[in-house]
Formats: sequence, C-alpha cells, structure tokens
Amino acid sequence: MDPWENALKQLDEVARVMDLDDTIKEALSLPELVSESRVILKGVNSLEVFPAYRVRHNTARGPAKGGIRFHPQVTVGEVKALSMWMTWKNAVSGVPYGGGKGGIIVNPKGMSKRDLEGLSRGFMRRFAHVVGEDIDIPAPDVNTTSQIMGWMLDEYETMKGRHEPGVITGKPLELGGSEGRTEATGLGGFYSIINAVKAYDIRGKKVAIQGFGNVGYYAAKFLEEVGYKIVAISDSKGGVFDESGLNVEAVMKKKQETKRVKGFGKAITNEELLELPVSILVPSAIENVITQQNANDIEAKLIVELANGPTTPDADKILEESKQIVVPDVLANSGGVTVSYLEWVQNRMGYYWTQKEVREKLKDVMNKAFKQVHNKMVSEKTTMRNAAIGLAVDKVVSAMKIRGQL
Ligand code: NAD
Repeated sequence: MDPWENALKQLDEVARVMDLDDTIKEALSLPELVSESRVILKGVNSLEVFPAYRVRHNTARGPAKGGIRFHPQVTVGEVKALSMWMTWKNAVSGVPYGGGKGGIIVNPKGMSKRDLEGLSRGFMRRFAHVVGEDIDIPAPDVNTTSQIMGWMLDEYETMKGRHEPGVITGKPLELGGSEGRTEATGLGGFYSIINAVKAYDIRGKKVAIQGFGNVGYYAAKFLEEVGYKIVAISDSKGGVFDESGLNVEAVMKKKQETKRVKGFGKAITNEELLELPVSILVPSAIENVITQQNANDIEAKLIVELANGPTTPDADKILEESKQIVVPDVLANSGGVTVSYLEWVQNRMGYYWTQKEVREKLKDVMNKAFKQVHNKMVSEKTTMRNAAIGLAVDKVVSAMKIRGQL
C-alpha cells in the first residue's frame, strides 16, 4: 500500500480509460525533480538528523505548489505521490499551478517550540534553492501550521535579502496570510459534500469524520451548522460515537485540553468509525485507511475524501461495484490550495480581500470544479476519480504539448 504505487495505479487506470499514449503516461509518471536532503538539529548536548524531501511533479501549468508534512511515516514515495495528486488537484480546480510536495521524517509531537522552529528554518535553508514564488510554493500539511510557514518565510527572506511573501502560503495574517485560509480545506470539503448530496440524492444526515485536525474539525463544524449530525469523530488515539450527534465545539475543547477526543458517547477505534451505519463518511486524516480488507464493510453511501489518498485502488473497485460514491481527494480537498492561490494572488497584488470575498471566490471555484467533474463522470460513465484525474490529465498534457514538451 505504498502511496506512490497507488498514485501510479490510478494514473494507469485513467490512461486505460482515456486510451492515453504509453510514452505520455511515462512522462506523467516521472516527477520533474526529486530533492533529497537532511535537517540537522543541534542542541547544547544533542545532535539529531532528519531526512527531508521536496518533490516537483509537473510544472507545465505553472509553478509547483503543495504542502510540507512533518510525520514519522513520511517516505520519498509518499512525497512523490502527494506531489502527483497536487498536479491533478490544481488542474481540476483550474488554479495556475503544477504539483509539488515536501516532508520531513520526524515525530514533531512533544518537540519544544524552539526545536520546531529550528527544524522549520533548517528545512528552508536546505530547500531555498528549489522554491520561489514563480518556482515552487510550499504550504502547510499534516503537523505543519501557519507559525511554521512564518518561520520558513522569515528564513527564506533573510537568505534572499528581500521580501517575497508569495514563496509560501498558509502564513499568519501578519506576514501576508489570507483571510479564510485556516478553514479553507474544511469549508471547500463542505461545499463538495453539499454538491454531492444534491447530485446523488443522498438521504440521511449522519456523518462520521475520521481525523480531527484542521481539515476534519472545520468540515464537521460547517456541516453541523446546516443541520448534519456528526455522530462519530476520531483522531490518532481513537474516536467517539454518539448516535444522537456530537457537539463539535465540545469535542474540540476536550481535544485541546486532553490531547484526545474522549468522554462523549461510546469509545470506538478508527477502524470501527469507518464501518458505522452513516450516510456520509469523511476520511480526513491519512492515506490507505479504506482498503480491500474493509471496503466491503463500509456502509456510507457517500465517501468524501478530505484526506489525501485515503482509499486504495483495490478498495475503489469494491466501492464502485457496490455503487457507493467516492468524491476523490483531488476534487474534495482542493479548497486549501484554492485559498492558497488566492493568498499568493493577494501577496503579488499587495492588496487584500475580506473573509467574505475569499469565501465567495472559494465557493465559485469548488462549485465549478464539482460540476465539471460530475459532467465528465456522467458523459463517460466512469467513476468520479477517473473523471477528475482524466480532466486533469487532459489539461496537463495539453499544456505540455503547447510548450512543445510532448
Ligand atoms: P492535522 O495535522 O491538522 O490533523 C490530522 C488529524 O488526523 C489529527 O486529528 C490526527 O490525530 C489525525 N490522525 C493522524 N493519524 C491518524 C490515524 N492513524 N487515524 C485517525 N486519525 C489520525 O492535518 P490536516 O491539515 O487536517 O490534514 C489532514 C489530511 O488532509 C491529510 O491527508 C492532508 O494531506 C489533507 N489535506 C490537508 C489540507 C490542509 O489545508 N490542511 C489540504 C488538503 C488536504
């Protein structure tokens, strides 16, 4: 279940459906640039070394764009997969970017603020020569926050001796961040869920959310506001289930106080959460949670992927056969990169929009992308994932051909 193998299998499937030339498929399979390095943290009496990566998958449509992940399970394959998914996501949303991603193999939990700052600055020192506002633009991902983006920006600007806020997005407002960025992926996910509920006539309002970080929390909050019942929520330490609906704010308060979600309804595992009798399942944590082993036990009619890569290709086939709808990551979680794009535009204009203006623009982009993917799915009688990646491949191949690369 290597994410890179999964990403290549998805491309294989789309290439088969589209009857794509083998050489073109090969050009799309290989990243443009894989940078591998290490970050050294030197304390008074300690020395630690962390492997680090930045991958540029494809820049035919614009500079590479994608987050940086701090996680013990990061691998170069995972970063390559995530960068390919960013290429597709940016093309589906229509933002003028290619795909990139970065990561450090590290467990940042329990690290001091000083070490986290050292790690973030160290990453930027190693990769400053491969990023830039017209080259490759990082952003937050799992375990990386707006504060981390702020440290990285400061390191970059100090090295270059000039301001260049567009080099990184998801920054604090004080450093040129955008209103509406924090909640953007969850809010964009919410728009995707509402669009899918209408398009597929999903009845029932019970929702299970796996992962209660930035993305899962905001998706839950916006759904709760319009009357959905969030019956289950989990994080890495396990979850809670209450058939009558959880209070999202109360669960978040508990998580902030105790570092876990607990004390509401019944305690459940992350595996159990996926198999609950709900209408909508929203994986918002990590890759490879819906697999060949559990896909048959998933009851939700609608699965909306706010995490990147939560469903393996084998599980996709099982869900397709049982007519369950999967709104794929490259469409469903594109709200974050869309507002990152709006942040970058504001940085370059030096003029800033209100939260209301940002949210309106985000809604337009999400609705348009959903409609395009849905129309392609219907006209080509395929899955939403094939339609979304197919749409993206069309756009990327066309840009590569016009450039004379193909
Ligand atoms: P985060 O670090 O804020 O939260 C991650 C959450 O997942 C935490 O609650 C954590 O406890 C939980 N988690 C970790 N391992 C888990 C496990 N094994 N089982 C269940 N839960 C687990 O990260 P985030 O920014 O919310 O990102 C979540 C997912 O969304 C990732 O796949 C990320 O790539 C994707 N994503 C994030 C953004 C963004 O703007 N933040 C944009 C697009 C996609």
